[in-house]
Amino acid sequence: MGLVTRAAELAASLDAVRRRITSAAEAAGRDPAEVSLVVVTKFFPASDVRVLADLGVTDVGENRHQEAEAKAAECADLGLRWHFIGGLQSNKAGAVAHYADVVESLDRAKLVGPLSRGAQARGHDVDVLLQVSLDPPGAEHRSGADPADLAALAQRVGEADRLRLCGLMAVAPLGEDPDEAFARLARIRQDFLGAHPDATMLSAGMSGDLEAAITHGATHVRVGSAVLGPRPTVQ
Ligand SMILES: *Cc1c(COP(=O)(O)O)cnc(C)c1O
Repeated sequence: MGLVTRAAELAASLDAVRRRITSAAEAAGRDPAEVSLVVVTKFFPASDVRVLADLGVTDVGENRHQEAEAKAAECADLGLRWHFIGGLQSNKAGAVAHYADVVESLDRAKLVGPLSRGAQARGHDVDVLLQVSLDPPGAEHRSGADPADLAALAQRVGEADRLRLCGLMAVAPLGEDPDEAFARLARIRQDFLGAHPDATMLSAGMSGDLEAAITHGATHVRVGSAVLGPRPTVQ
């Protein structure tokens, strides 16, 4: 596809997503400006990231370290904020801190040290969200911390150099009504804010469920396919 065609396509889908965000915020009695769009560019080339930046996108999300690292380097001139939203390994966490401005998927204490050391080496603060699991306890392929473990995890992040505790992130479990899952998330967040009143970010909602997330207080939605189109099915 030519760049002009791709730009027109991305402009149209981006516009549609922005309209969905505005309607959902208004329906929830919220100011649409409270909801930021993070465009998830995983599997799509740096050329698309450039087009998105041209269209006013300021925040992009990636979930695989090698791909994210290469794309962030290729797009270093664009001044974008890079959100790392994928599963983190402790041996990669330090390297992620070299390009990520926001790490949304911190879900265990073991990651705090490497992430903090990476941020110190870069000489740059990294914003951290704790990923909380909304799955039932014991569910398979669970990612995210148990809600009961958030307090201890938050304390670790709060004590770490160069890490700023900014809030929570979650993914609605497959097969559950996202409205119910995000209602649960809103209660978890309410408790969390009691102890960490400045950690107000809430990253929730994707292409299929951003309206439900905004209803329940999301400040950041992570939208991939609704902007960029379907991803290749082989991961
Ligand atoms: C891929 C991904 C998204 C975006 O998903 P879409 O359904 O394409 O919008 C959001 N959050 C996370 C954690 C992801 O891995």
